Amino acid sequence: MKKLLLHICCAPDQTVAVERTIDEYDVTGFFSNSCIEPRGEYFKRLDDAKYLANLQSIELIEDEYFPEKFLAVAKGLEKEPENGKRCLKCIEYRLRRTAEASKKGGFAAFATTLTVSPHKDAEHINRVGEELAWEFDIEYLPTDFKKKDGFKRSVELSNKLGLYRQDYCGCRFSLKQKKERDRQRAEEITAKASEESSQTGQSLKLKAVDPASAPPGAFYKPPDSVSRRFKKGKR
Ligand code: SF4
Repeated sequence: MKKLLLHICCAPDQTVAVERTIDEYDVTGFFSNSCIEPRGEYFKRLDDAKYLANLQSIELIEDEYFPEKFLAVAKGLEKEPENGKRCLKCIEYRLRRTAEASKKGGFAAFATTLTVSPHKDAEHINRVGEELAWEFDIEYLPTDFKKKDGFKRSVELSNKLGLYRQDYCGCRFSLKQKKERDRQRAEEITAKASEESSQTGQSLKLKAVDPASAPPGAFYKPPDSVSRRFKKGKR
């Protein structure tokens, strides 16, 4: 069986990408994502990738984590929209790290889980992969994992296994853009609610709750990971 180094961007994408390559290749995961910020988010995604690699019985190698290097790559492109020039550089950077590691580690080929996402252009990703394969004299496995309901399958498996599904791509710029989208949506909802209430002549009333009269634990919010594990009862 050929040895494949599979670049892993996150556990949800890892689900289907490993499922679709494991029968033909001896797969090793490679978590290389210096773009992810803040640091806590990076380790949250890494933890789930490790957890899943264990379930999938594959080895997972963690690349260095140097957000400064990604920021240098993205310099001057901070305001680019998602899927713009900054993302092209980011993808090229992560695939280059994978190609280098494949060559050094004696792998026959490399690939990436990035093509699971419906937000990413598989054609572009595969073109970059082929160019790097030529540069490093190594094989690249072109994929489009989102096809044949690949993305849907990744969502199903992630839910089943209680995996963390992030709501922004990963870098500080995508997080800022996501917060801006959330803010605009909240403003639209508020504006719509006040328009509806002025049409019906009713005003929205929020009932205040006295904490002293609430049952014990009513205001306790468990950390994400704990609540997720508790709900799914999987870990
Ligand atoms: S939005 Fe995603 S792909 Fe684009 S630069 Fe940020 S982390 Fe990389």
